[in-house]
Amino acid sequence: MEIALIAHDGKKAEMVKFLMEHVAILNEKNIQLIATGTTGGFVERSGLRVTKMLSGPRGGDAQIASRVAEGKTQMVIFFRDPMDKHPHEPDITMLMRMCDVHNVPLATNPATAEILINSL
Ligand code: PGA
Repeated sequence: MEIALIAHDGKKAEMVKFLMEHVAILNEKNIQLIATGTTGGFVERSGLRVTKMLSGPRGGDAQIASRVAEGKTQMVIFFRDPMDKHPHEPDITMLMRMCDVHNVPLATNPATAEILINSL
């Protein structure tokens, strides 16, 4: 199963914390992680293996949206920062739309991500 990870700048530390708390289940279930570029760098430095896409503002969210549309990504964990502006807002909207079109679970905050991860 492939899970995509995206965290806006103000949420990257929270993403690492979340992954560290759930590393056992990720390993046990043999989860393949992909991530937008900068988020992926954080994930890598925390010791997990991850395939990095482009950085979000350079098209990473669009790449992940495409994988969702193609059926390659089965879950998206996207820690959005509602207090910040993002130049690539159209790509973010498109990614969330693709999740809805293809009925792919999408968590936009740690509380929801916790429920999804524990359902694996
Ligand atoms: P980043 O992209 O991981 O490259 O920072 C995340 C985003 O802002 O969509």
